[in-house]
Amino acid sequence: MLEDQGYACAMGREPFEEDQLIFIDHDHTCCPVSPGTETRCCGRCVRGLLCFRCNTALGYVEMYGELAMAYLSRYDTKRPTREVRLIRQGLSP
Ligand SMILES: [Zn+2]
Ligand SMILES: [Zn+2]
Repeated sequence: MLEDQGYACAMGREPFEEDQLIFIDHDHTCCPVSPGTETRCCGRCVRGLLCFRCNTALGYVEMYGELAMAYLSRYDTKRPTREVRLIRQGLSP
């Protein structure tokens, strides 16, 4: 598996250092991680090998990804909001 990934993190793509901790990421909806207990994985839901940073980031993304995207979309200055578009089209009062 490590070889398949070219000895690099599956998410960040940065190469693993020799003494680096490598995290085996699995689908948490298959094998939920309950706080205070050891993470048990059935072995069939393994997704990839991650570095500490990406493993941590992914955990947050899984928990708060939708909330974060909803939040960011409110401040998306590159994409005009519905209101701005209506004004441009002359449809706004
Ligand atoms: Zn990484
Ligand atoms: Zn599983």
